This record gives sequence, C-alpha cells and structure tokens, in this order.
Amino acid sequence: MATTRELLGHPGLGPHLLAPWELRRLDAVRVPARRDDVLAARLLLRLCAARLTGLPPQETGLAQRCPRCARDGHGRPYLDGHPGLGVSLSHADGLAAAAAGPGPVGVDVEPAARRPGPPGVLRRLLPEADLREAAAHPDPGPALLRAWVRAEARFKAGPPGAGAVHRVTEWTDGRRSAVVAVASAGTPALLPPAAVLGGPVPGRVDRGPVRLPRTAPGARP
Ligand SMILES: [Zn+2]
Repeated sequence: MATTRELLGHPGLGPHLLAPWELRRLDAVRVPARRDDVLAARLLLRLCAARLTGLPPQETGLAQRCPRCARDGHGRPYLDGHPGLGVSLSHADGLAAAAAGPGPVGVDVEPAARRPGPPGVLRRLLPEADLREAAAHPDPGPALLRAWVRAEARFKAGPPGAGAVHRVTEWTDGRRSAVVAVASAGTPALLPPAAVLGGPVPGRVDRGPVRLPRTAPGARP
C-alpha cells in the first residue's frame, strides 16, 4: 500500500510501464486525480507481480478480461501464463494498494475517514458478527469501515476453492490515513512501498524500468 503521490513521484515509474489496454482504460478516466489513482494502483500491481514472478514489470503477463463481455480492463485481473498465482488492486482518494501471491488474492484500501453505508446495504453485505461487533462501539463507524474493507478484499479474491478459506489480514496505516485488507490463501508479506519500489536505478534519472529485488520478500508490516 502506498499513496498515489509516493508512487507517481518515484523515478522510473510511469505510464510507459503499462500495456496498451491499460493506457486505453486510463484515458477513459475523466477526473485527473482519479486517473492518477488508477495509474498508481496499476503500477503498484505491476511491481508486485514482477516481484512475485521475477519478471520485468512490463512482462508479467498481467491481464484483465471480463468473462461476461470479453473486454479488457475490468473483471478480476490475472497473470497470463501463471494460472496458480492471483493478483488484485485497489485505489481510493490518493491511495493505492496491490497484492500478488499464490492462489486467489484480493486487496482493498479506503481512506480511514470514510464511512461506509447506508445501513441497509451494510446489513446485506457484511457478516452478522462484524455488524454486532461494530454496534457495540459508541461510534460504530471505524469498525464498520474495517469490516467493509475486509468484505471487499474477500469479494475481490473470489471463491477460495473447495475446502479452503481466505485468510483476511486487515490493518490501519496511520501515516497514510488508510485502512487496508488483503484476503489470501497464505500468510501475506506486508511490504512497505520502499521494499517494492527498490531504489532509483543508478546512473539514470528516470524513465528506465525499475530494477526489482529478486530476493525473497522480508515480511514487515
Ligand atoms: Zn464486462
């Protein structure tokens, strides 16, 4: 998880890393701030996929094709040629999150100040236990937001597979004022942006592909 500003301000990260279908999708976003969020999330997703596969960000086979209408750019993203791996992305108001790992994964990020609603929708979408837990607080808002983010992450991961359950990890990033959740098959490595971004490529100011560390991810919340 990172802010849009952190990602788009990083040397070497830019629209040149995206596939033509992603650029077309980006062009269709009319609000500039939202376009930046989409770009940031897609770049972060490419970095996560590159880190997972050991491939350059442009060559991870990242694809997103809707099974209903067969158009690119919506539906659950996936890595072409890596059927055992899952990828997911999320963006909201200056925040971007992405996840990549074995099996189904789903990620959701929301600004910590956001309050989900209305109550009728929450009653339909959130687990009963989460609603009860939130109602026990004097202000149920923050607990409802956390439950919402967990539910979104589970939904985006899709069915966990026969006999399996999603492991849902949720946390609050105080510095970035964000609530994040990831649903995954295994224990997620929660990487700070610096771990995924690597450093600027020595001898090049910008525009070059980001060099990604190939070592195993060091889990650091
Ligand atoms: Zn569609």
